[in-house]
Amino acid sequence: MDPLYSPEGVEARWQQTWEAEGLYQAEPDSERESFVIAIPPPNVTGSLHMGHALNASIQDLLIRWHRMRGFSVLWQPGYDHAGIATQNVVERELAKEGLTRHDLGREAFIERTWKWLDHYGGVIMGQLRRLGSSLDYRRERFTMDEPYVRAVLRYFVHLHERGLLYRANRIVNWCPRCASAISDLEVNHVDENDTLYTIRYPLADGGGELTIATVRPPTMLADVAVAVHPDDERYHHLVGKEAIVPVAERRVPIIADDRVDPEFGTGAVKITPGHDPMDFDIGRTHGLPELTVIGLDGNMSDDSGDFAGLTQVEANRRIVEVLRERDLLVSAEPYRHSVGHCDRCGSRIEPLITLQWWCDMTELAAPAIEAVRDGRVCFRPERYTDVYLRWMESIRPWCVSRQLWWGHRIPVWYCPDGHMTVVEAEPEACVECGSRDLRQDEDVLDTWFSSQLWPFATLGWPEDTPELRAWYPNDVSSTDRGIIFLWEARMIMAGLELMGELPFHTVNIHSTINAPDGQRMSKSLGTGLDPLEPIEKYGADATRYGLLKNSSTQDVRFSIGTIEEGRKLANKLWNVSRLILQNTEGVSAEARPRDLEERWILARIDATRAEVEGAWARYEFAASADALYHLTFDDFCDWYAEAIKPRLYEDDPEAAATALAALERLLVLLHPVLPHVTEEIWSQLPERDARLIVSTWLESDASFAEGARALDRVQEAAQVFRRSGVEVELGSDDERRIFAAVVRPERAKGVGNRDAEVERLRKEVARAEGMLANERFVTNAPAEVVDAEREKLERYRRELSALES
Ligand SMILES: [Zn+2]
Ligand SMILES: [Zn+2]
Repeated sequence: MDPLYSPEGVEARWQQTWEAEGLYQAEPDSERESFVIAIPPPNVTGSLHMGHALNASIQDLLIRWHRMRGFSVLWQPGYDHAGIATQNVVERELAKEGLTRHDLGREAFIERTWKWLDHYGGVIMGQLRRLGSSLDYRRERFTMDEPYVRAVLRYFVHLHERGLLYRANRIVNWCPRCASAISDLEVNHVDENDTLYTIRYPLADGGGELTIATVRPPTMLADVAVAVHPDDERYHHLVGKEAIVPVAERRVPIIADDRVDPEFGTGAVKITPGHDPMDFDIGRTHGLPELTVIGLDGNMSDDSGDFAGLTQVEANRRIVEVLRERDLLVSAEPYRHSVGHCDRCGSRIEPLITLQWWCDMTELAAPAIEAVRDGRVCFRPERYTDVYLRWMESIRPWCVSRQLWWGHRIPVWYCPDGHMTVVEAEPEACVECGSRDLRQDEDVLDTWFSSQLWPFATLGWPEDTPELRAWYPNDVSSTDRGIIFLWEARMIMAGLELMGELPFHTVNIHSTINAPDGQRMSKSLGTGLDPLEPIEKYGADATRYGLLKNSSTQDVRFSIGTIEEGRKLANKLWNVSRLILQNTEGVSAEARPRDLEERWILARIDATRAEVEGAWARYEFAASADALYHLTFDDFCDWYAEAIKPRLYEDDPEAAATALAALERLLVLLHPVLPHVTEEIWSQLPERDARLIVSTWLESDASFAEGARALDRVQEAAQVFRRSGVEVELGSDDERRIFAAVVRPERAKGVGNRDAEVERLRKEVARAEGMLANERFVTNAPAEVVDAEREKLERYRRELSALES
């Protein structure tokens, strides 16, 4: 073994070896219990970011752990075609050539997109390999693969036959730049400075006026009512009368509706169903007409009369001018409010009524709510259960159509009479009238419509495949909190609807990693950090360890410190392994503990195994990293290895055999977190043919449990010695031997002052006694805090009496 461990070269070699030897491969196996995770499909145009790296570290840990436990494991890889994001990338490329997608036409544009993806897409799988992710890469799936496309179209037709999918004019979030509807969940709300105009609306009977407030005067041209709250006494006498919308010169009813906020402006609001989501709902309740004056390009449409073709800014200027001339403008004041922007391109969202495909979600949501309520699907951390339930219980219809070219084209064909034929493959004739003059719907499906099928469409659904039988349901879905609604909830609904079974039992939501200063990490803001940098500099093992150690149930700030700690851990493990291997030549590993420290380290390894497995079962990864660090650094290296060193140098064969056995166990336990360095050391052990990645996980082993506290007295004596330089009398030869081997060599490093230490311990004893005498502390503090204080007091007393004797 080289004197210094360098992950460079070693890690890449193992990544290639594991994959080449087929050790990542999964085969359907009905004999063994399965453990399956489908990776959240990354955007095909994307690259690895810190959140991906943490999530992959978590998933790979769970996968490696279960593989070693003998499960039939599958970690399913693949990509999402990411409709709007990919189309934007290719459109930007075209723009460099001075072209738009319309210059190419639909077919050529799609061809161009595939070509672009061949060259530049799909880099993440390579980056995941570099992290040591043991996905079965042979099974890579893409949401635009032909069989996957069939699955998507099958679900569309299924929902249509169930009466849950329909085409309707409703208000949507329209992005004028992307020229597409986008989902509520893809709208970013940003505070902006605007002007709030207060405007007089005369009553039609000439008996006075109302004043209303608006930030968007151009939408007045599409006003169809004025509304007040039914309990607002200021306006009781006006409900049922009519007002005149200025500029438009339209008579509109004054209505009462309890959705009106009496605190906003004057309490009387204009109702514009064509350009505001809440007004749209109010309009539908009251049967009001739906007028529109703004077009799909965000400018004033032909229906806006004299203003047709103007930008909204220009129309605003002119309308305000007219209002001023007629003395209908009461005031114009600065106003700060929240405005929706397109998540993809940043443009201001225009609420518009357009003809779209909608999916009614209420019926699909009911069993998916039940499944989470009764615990058949668990969220980790638990607080996300409520987040999920709140959204599901007030779920709204889902607009599934997008006005894009890149994606799954909606499988609906129209004849000249307007009949719809909804089938998976292109039909010959209209189902109703037999017409052969058919035109396919121009729209594609929302990307999430296809990714909701991920846990089973990747396994071959709708075909009945061995993979589907072996690996559905999956076990765990691990993801970012940002896509609980977009993805997790929809997978649960689609899984129940199509497979009749939940897609997984656990949803793990990993920490969001912010920049070190607490800012959101974002490539466009320049605050993103590339995980490949620490991987290059410190190694994949160190990066995995660091990200896990720094994870939490809350958002975290990125810390290079924990990654550096991971590198130190790998080095320390390397050095101790080297010490053992150099002094155990010709020895076979066998746990034959004879002495105190041997029983102790075997007990410590087993106790840490139990602790780590408990933490993983609870999806608490930072605690497990901590426990593994402590076991390796303190217990194994600083105590056990130091204590047995003299006997290894003396070629004691029993100590050597036990040391090898203990090292093997440590490597097994560390492998899911630090796969590369452990495999590298494992390959140097004598008589090792099988790889560590497929070796057997540690059995629970109580046979050494009595050794767990065997070193307590020596460790206490070491504390006293390190603080004061005083050697405490130890009871057994073994204890004295260990003390001499581990602690006494430290004398060269200098020791503490005895009198100062006695003084310090006396103060600690007095303080602890005081606390425990305080009845309020003893009854009110948590039991473990009180117990810990009692333990401390005992220890201080023992140390003190040792010093004073
Ligand atoms: Zn946009
Ligand atoms: Zn027809």
